[in-house]
Amino acid sequence: MQQPKRNTWQREAVRAALAEKRGFVSAQQLHQVLRDGGSTIGLATVYRALAGLAESGEADSLQSPEGENLFRSCATQGHHHHLICRSCGDTRELSATVVEEWTQRVAAEHGFTDIEHVVDIFGLCERCRAAA
Ligand SMILES: [Zn+2]
Ligand SMILES: [Zn+2]
Ligand SMILES: [Zn+2]
Repeated sequence: MQQPKRNTWQREAVRAALAEKRGFVSAQQLHQVLRDGGSTIGLATVYRALAGLAESGEADSLQSPEGENLFRSCATQGHHHHLICRSCGDTRELSATVVEEWTQRVAAEHGFTDIEHVVDIFGLCERCRAAA
């Protein structure tokens, strides 16, 4: 018997809406986009779909300095970092060799293995600074 695929269309709708966004968005923001587009999808469903996409590696997730969970469909598949405008949400994907080397070295110095790290930079982009 086939595995029932519940909520597949909702997940696809969330995936498509996320792919159209340039920067990181919260579940609430994406929910509003979907509702504006005529969808009747619920906020809890949007949140579950986003969490699922993040878990399967199809979306990046991070926490804003305010503690809000944000999501983005990144172009880069592998490990990378983000530079995020806290005003407009514009996001750049960064590779940071210096961070990779530093975390490896510091962890090794303390005898840590199997390490991971999260480094995301929040700030004000050039456009938002000019507009301010
Ligand atoms: Zn990313
Ligand atoms: Zn900005
Ligand atoms: Zn890194």
